[in-house]
Amino acid sequence: MGIILIVLACLIAVLLSVPAASHTGLATWFSIASASSAFVAMAVNQYLATRPKYLEPLFGGLDRIYRAHKWTGIAALALILVHYFVTPNFKGKLLTTGLNQLAQDFGEIGFYGLIVLGGISIVKRLPKIPGEFPYHVWRQLHRFIGLFFIAIAIHFNFIKRPFDGTAWLAIYLNIFAAIGVASYIQTQLRALLRRRAYKVVAVTRAGGATLVTAEPGGRPIKARPGQFAFISANRPGLREPHPFTIAGHETGNDGVTRLTFAIKPLGDFTGRLRDRLEPGDTLMVEGGYGHFTAQRGGERQLWVAGGIGVTPFLAMARSIAGMTGKKVHLYYCVRDADEAIGLEHLDEAGTHPHFSYTLHRSSTDGRVNAEVMKAGAGFDLDGADLWYCGPAAMRKAIVSGFKDIGVKLARVEFERFEFR
Ligand SMILES: Cc1cc2nc3c(=O)[nH]c(=O)nc-3n(C[C@H](O)[C@H](O)[C@H](O)COP(=O)(O)OP(=O)(O)OC[C@H]3O[C@@H](n4cnc5c(N)ncnc54)[C@H](O)[C@@H]3O)c2cc1C
Repeated sequence: MGIILIVLACLIAVLLSVPAASHTGLATWFSIASASSAFVAMAVNQYLATRPKYLEPLFGGLDRIYRAHKWTGIAALALILVHYFVTPNFKGKLLTTGLNQLAQDFGEIGFYGLIVLGGISIVKRLPKIPGEFPYHVWRQLHRFIGLFFIAIAIHFNFIKRPFDGTAWLAIYLNIFAAIGVASYIQTQLRALLRRRAYKVVAVTRAGGATLVTAEPGGRPIKARPGQFAFISANRPGLREPHPFTIAGHETGNDGVTRLTFAIKPLGDFTGRLRDRLEPGDTLMVEGGYGHFTAQRGGERQLWVAGGIGVTPFLAMARSIAGMTGKKVHLYYCVRDADEAIGLEHLDEAGTHPHFSYTLHRSSTDGRVNAEVMKAGAGFDLDGADLWYCGPAAMRKAIVSGFKDIGVKLARVEFERFEFR
């Protein structure tokens, strides 16, 4: 639904470009229509970058919003290239004043800036350069896209063009210019507006993950079980926010809700966090985001976790008391028992009649597959939901396995632990 709205917004720009520019000939109209829809797509992308929580149901979660952001950005780049190569011919209307010339220069700055930054974003791994483009460098560079957007807004407002400022197209594009600029400012101020300070009260270095528990220093975040938050800490190398699912929301007798994160040390940030984070440190938390909340699922739910993908299920299992009327079985797949985390919470959830779980160790039990889950779920999987968090390849194998054995799942919901 979200994608359809984005496409509609761009198509309206194309429609409005007909009365505004069709008298200039097909090539010029085509160029203006492409530029106009590209501009709308860029403005929408600035808006999506604000992480709008209330749009999550339309897209199916923040990870899907980021995917839409990525594809809208790619489409905008393609349309900008069309505008660049199909040169508009305004028949003597070009560059009559210094302001027009300046607008032309801004257009070029915006164009080359977007091509470079957009190009870097598209090629996640640069060809012939070993390893991945460093995420923090990419992130800092990506912030400049907003400035290039502003350059393009100046370009289209002050360049000589075959329609004036009262044309519907000009009004429409200026509305999106305002949305884009306001969104860019909001994104830059997000740290001030949305991050909440928490104090780390416990750091446990378990086999499969680093468990971090923190309590709010002031206003807490609002989050539902299954959602995630961006966290950073006041230690060198830990200041860049990374997304992690909230594995536990525990309200103590003092009425304070403490959050627990389970973080697998897979790379630079997560490794440093394991080495450096200590109780007493300040954790900045922004969230909760995400649509992976089984409360909105059907009556019979099969949850499948691959490794660290158990984190949303830990949070959901810990609030299982509120899910009466549903029947849930969790398959928690790990390589061996040492990797498993949070089993005490799953055991506790298992005291409720509507929840059960299986710990599947692939080192001894072999690969988990649809047959095994069908036999072990304890209820009929035909028409049930599959909620999955883990490696994409495992999800695909499980879903096609169910098809092969004739089990028709009502829906498949999954969380990606990746944005770009
Ligand atoms: C919605 C969501 C929920 C997640 N929940 C959990 C969880 O509960 N437990 C867990 O262990 N992992 C979780 N992850 C994965 C976790 O965010 C990444 O593994 C972690 O950010 C990468 O840090 P690193 O130290 O492994 O890698 P780094 O060496 O720092 O970077 C490796 C790669 O990770 C990606 N990455 C790096 N920084 C960021 C960033 N700030 N934001 C997004 N991606 C980045 C980039 O592709 C980068 O190239 C989740 C991810 C998402 C998107």
